[in-house]
Amino acid sequence: MELCTYRVNITGTVQGVGFRPFIYALAERYLVTGTVSNNSKGVEILLNTDTLTLNQFLTAIEYEYPPLASIDNIHHEELPYQVFDDFKIIETKEAGEVTTNIPPDVSICKECEKELFDSSNRRYGYPFITCTHCGVRYSIIYDLPYDRVNTSMKFFKMCKVCEEEYSNPLDRRYHAQPIGCHDCGPKLELMDNVGRGVLSQTIDNVVNLLKEGNIIAVKGVGGYHLMCDATNEETIQKLRDRKHRPTKPFAVMVRDMEMARELGEINEMEEQLLTSKEKPIVVVGERTPRPTDMIAPNISRIGLFLPYTPLHLLILDKLQRPLVATSANVTDEPICTNLEDLEKLQGVYDYVLEHNRDIVNGCDDSVVMVVNEQQVILRRARGYAPVSIKLPFKLEHNVLALGANQKSTIAIGFDNQVILSPHIGDLDSIGSVEYYKKNIETLERMYHFKADVVAHDMHPQYESTKYAKRCVGKRTLREVQHHHAHILGVMAEKQIIGKVFGVAFDGTGYGDDGKLWGGEFMICDYEGYERIAHLNYFKLLGGAKAIKEPRRVALSLLFDLYGEDVHTLNNPTTQAFSITELNTYFIAWKKGLNAPESSSVGRLFDAVASLLGICQVMSFEGESGMMMEELYDSSVVGHYNFGYKDGKIDVLPMLVEMLSENDTTIAISKFFHTLVEMIDVVYAPHDLPLVLSGGVFQNRVLLGLVLERFPEAIISNAIPPNDGGIALGQIVRTLI
Ligand SMILES: [Zn+2]
Ligand SMILES: [Zn+2]
Repeated sequence: MELCTYRVNITGTVQGVGFRPFIYALAERYLVTGTVSNNSKGVEILLNTDTLTLNQFLTAIEYEYPPLASIDNIHHEELPYQVFDDFKIIETKEAGEVTTNIPPDVSICKECEKELFDSSNRRYGYPFITCTHCGVRYSIIYDLPYDRVNTSMKFFKMCKVCEEEYSNPLDRRYHAQPIGCHDCGPKLELMDNVGRGVLSQTIDNVVNLLKEGNIIAVKGVGGYHLMCDATNEETIQKLRDRKHRPTKPFAVMVRDMEMARELGEINEMEEQLLTSKEKPIVVVGERTPRPTDMIAPNISRIGLFLPYTPLHLLILDKLQRPLVATSANVTDEPICTNLEDLEKLQGVYDYVLEHNRDIVNGCDDSVVMVVNEQQVILRRARGYAPVSIKLPFKLEHNVLALGANQKSTIAIGFDNQVILSPHIGDLDSIGSVEYYKKNIETLERMYHFKADVVAHDMHPQYESTKYAKRCVGKRTLREVQHHHAHILGVMAEKQIIGKVFGVAFDGTGYGDDGKLWGGEFMICDYEGYERIAHLNYFKLLGGAKAIKEPRRVALSLLFDLYGEDVHTLNNPTTQAFSITELNTYFIAWKKGLNAPESSSVGRLFDAVASLLGICQVMSFEGESGMMMEELYDSSVVGHYNFGYKDGKIDVLPMLVEMLSENDTTIAISKFFHTLVEMIDVVYAPHDLPLVLSGGVFQNRVLLGLVLERFPEAIISNAIPPNDGGIALGQIVRTLI
């Protein structure tokens, strides 16, 4: 057959994942000549071959590409004939408009794990063993293209042996940018909490210190963890006291699936997630009897994850006990990524296990759960981010989306793709706002991205809105309503075109009328929305304070029901206030003083938790909902009454019935059913796809019940239902 020259361009996550050596090996298999190189858009191949072999070659690419790669598009064209003597990997071409994806950090691969524990291997016990198919990526990258000089590995000069592996296209470590070994790579250092080095065998020492009940700050991939023995109740209590975290559940790292099963009831899909290359924290049902109540007090769910770095593996392999592993950060601040940040936690940890490879981009652990066999991402970070999301249409502009204020993420959008940052956190402190800005700069720099449109939330007090207004310059600002963005995020992820019926059950989000929405039913598409129905407004006594104190929301609803007579009632809510307080709040309620109006289902959850005596003041966000999940009983049937007229849902009839219920479990179970019933009633006349989003759908029981009633309902699987998904929704809001 006649030989021709072809150019093949491949886009997607194709750099830093062993793509060029994979192509090199294919070229050897099919005996073709030519070149392969990276460019700013992905990988480019030139080859001399006939059409038949070309097709086989392209099929092989599609079916056999390396484990960390993902392909968005393969394009080929014929060029004027050129002569090649052999097949070569050639150097990265010019930088320009960057569209290739930044590879995320993934966990250690099987081959590296085998070598780690093989005493005859030269990397035996090396805590930073890695290859082209595994290890750190995003967290060490300063810039694209992904070459060693653009990462924090540039400070380590490869030894001769590593250099040889790095330069051999047939080696598993060919162009593995973080390559290193005992001789030339990063090293561990164990220090006490004032920075004095502790000598002798590091891993053994760490394991002994953990066994003795110490709390150790361990530098990982995207930040530090605070780690301690999960079987030692005294130590966990010490960590709770020092971190001022009385009840919020801790995640637990386990050696392997066997140890995971000792703590959790794990189904097949949960096991797949636990052992996936992303290795997220997976929230599963706890095994009974519970080994300890200290890890997640009063909650029968536990967040488990497997060791994802060689360092974690070495520690757990020697320790043979589960480890509490929680992100090291000061409350409301981002995860600590260097010793200087970590010093603020000096009073919390006893020792630090440090290493000398810089963390360039901070990245928390990801958190997922499985509901009705669907993956629900609660926090999208390490392993998943920053990966691009393909849109069902081309964007007219380059859009920067600034997200919301809680569980913040940002995104950039161009052509038909969106790059969503990892979870940044709540923008409640100067430190977190700085970290937020750094994340924006990082994405803009790496993708050589310049926005023409800046999309942001409508809430005037959000830090993200303030930032939008400050940084706008000559760019166009685009306000996107919070709950519209929630639904749009799901539509974008699922590539839905056309109108949908969106249900956004949420904490709070700023509405068009300046009120705090969060119980919203809307028909929408990318161009706009129509608010079909919402919960009747109720007042949040004390404004922001009401978000932490369910009793304030409940009291406000009691005032709606009984007015001034509330002080004659005797229930858990009224008992949570003094008579003076009841009188003061009544005046505030009546006059609307510091009492913004809200239609939020999240706050309704809080109110119910207070009225039933489950929770009056929360020590962490979402506590009331978690406690209500615990009390739900699937054998209870029926729901309460509620009013629905002119697009307004009246929950007061439900509350009256609930207050006369003697059994808390029945009341809570019926409350869940009532919410499902509300969706049913409002959605019934509409023949449109049903889309669910908003932070309230992180509630496992509610989401499970809604998906049972509406198996066709669409939820997001790749972005969180909470405000972490807002940025994606903001990007795709078209028209200004
Ligand atoms: Zn590996
Ligand atoms: Zn080396």
